[in-house]
Amino acid sequence: MCQVRRMQASNPVPRLPAACLQPVPRLPTADLQSCVKVTGCRPAILCQGYRLHTCNPVSRLPTADLKSCAKATGCRPAILCQVFNPSTEEVVGSVANMGCREAEDAVSKAYSAFQTWKATTAKGRSDLLKKAYQLVMKNKEKLARIITLENGKPYRESLGEVAFGSSYIEWYAEECRRVQGTVISSPSQSKRMMTIKQPIGVCALITPWNFPLTMVTRKACAALSVGCTVVLKPSEETPLTALTLAELFREAGLPEGVFNVVTCDRDGAADIGGTLCESPLVSLLSFTGSSAVGKILLNQASGTVKRCHMELGGNAPFIVMSSADLDDAVKGALDAKFRNTGQTCICPNRFLVQEDVHDEFVKRLNIAMEKQLVTGDGFADGTTQGPLINAKAVDKVDDYVKDAVSKGAKLVRGGTRSSFGTKFYPSTVLTGVTLDMRCMHEEIFGPIIAIYRFKTEEEAIRIANATSYGLAGYAYTTDSKQQWRMAEALDFGIVGLNEGLVSTAESPHGGFKESGIGREGGIGIGLDDFLEVKYVCIGGL
Ligand code: ADP
Repeated sequence: MCQVRRMQASNPVPRLPAACLQPVPRLPTADLQSCVKVTGCRPAILCQGYRLHTCNPVSRLPTADLKSCAKATGCRPAILCQVFNPSTEEVVGSVANMGCREAEDAVSKAYSAFQTWKATTAKGRSDLLKKAYQLVMKNKEKLARIITLENGKPYRESLGEVAFGSSYIEWYAEECRRVQGTVISSPSQSKRMMTIKQPIGVCALITPWNFPLTMVTRKACAALSVGCTVVLKPSEETPLTALTLAELFREAGLPEGVFNVVTCDRDGAADIGGTLCESPLVSLLSFTGSSAVGKILLNQASGTVKRCHMELGGNAPFIVMSSADLDDAVKGALDAKFRNTGQTCICPNRFLVQEDVHDEFVKRLNIAMEKQLVTGDGFADGTTQGPLINAKAVDKVDDYVKDAVSKGAKLVRGGTRSSFGTKFYPSTVLTGVTLDMRCMHEEIFGPIIAIYRFKTEEEAIRIANATSYGLAGYAYTTDSKQQWRMAEALDFGIVGLNEGLVSTAESPHGGFKESGIGREGGIGIGLDDFLEVKYVCIGGL
């Protein structure tokens, strides 16, 4: 039973009503198959069942058919879960609300597809991914529109995400042809020794909503490129982008069963996560999301000793030294902090500014924010700051501001809920921040700049490193010796020196400490997680 596996970070109460906890808690595979017969839908219903209402680029399984499936089979109406536009709160689409049974089915499909996919050549997989890359670029407006609809980020930023997300498809298409083994110097005349690299197997991917395309391509294309097959559970907030990508993969010629998408609502995530973690047919789990959920998954995956790749929370420092070029620092602050309205794991969380440039930095920052940041609907002209993903995110951000102000921080701008709508929060600056404030310890994930004034380089490094997180850190200084010192002293997987935009497919992305395990992207390293190294010894020579 799914419920036995259920572990949730925040809400331990199962959502399903008692009637649904009968032998078949969700829409079972058998019923889905009979749905296929009744409605004439294709068997891809399991992995492709969704409909996008507003821009209608793809409608493999229309809502009406899902509803008639439900009628014909007597399944519960919760077969569908809705996807909302965080800006307007309108429903933009519906996806199949799958459960453990569908996840198990997807795993076994992926497992049987692995038996043939692993035997394809790197060149063949590379060609196919290059085709997928071209299709994604051809459909960039459509994908960007879907991203803005379900995530809320400004359309221009969504176009940027399509370019960024697709760069991983292209990158892995190129990198997979360079996977190599080694020939070992043998200590014996009668033996020859070598290593070969082989795909690890079925990879379960669980992704978040903040980069609905990139978080998928960064994992999935690494896996697919080296011959692994995939079961993806995208975020319940943004499944439409992932499903559209699945369509494009199919169009590019990816065989059936190689890339499978399992969608569900938030309450179903724990069931599906549990199923994927516990399945002996799944060899690797790759997760991007909160540290709390990452720790649950690590526990669950331990039973089958799965390889785990984790990209978890961050608490990035943004250090401005007195030698910094302040205009560069302000530009870097805006670039790094306000992408996706402050909802990225590498967003600066704590601004540490040296005392003699503090006031000037705050002044210039305030002027730049006033000029450059425009809050509004993602499709409105000139918008740079969209809504936060949901009401919970707005409450959380508001709580950080209230906590800081109640402990003596000064509100320089923003700080009160936006008049645009319930999901919006204004870009905010707090000064006079102290180390006991929650915004200095917890991941804000919203448009707040909290500034702490420090005296010395040692103090800045000590404070920057005093966190259990270790994903990204930024430092602004024109002193070349200080640049080296800071690059080496900061305990973070990614360090931006005089640069706020650091992510590329060519560079490794990942964190120290509780920010994660493993790296994505980069030369070689991003593929390592998806490969097994096999040592072969040939004797009797
Ligand atoms: P966020 O709060 O930003 O959505 P989460 O870590 O909660 O970050 O979610 C990231 C991804 O993990 C989403 O796809 C979500 O559905 C999934 N998820 C959440 N809770 C669980 C869980 N207990 N088991 C498996 N996946 C989960």
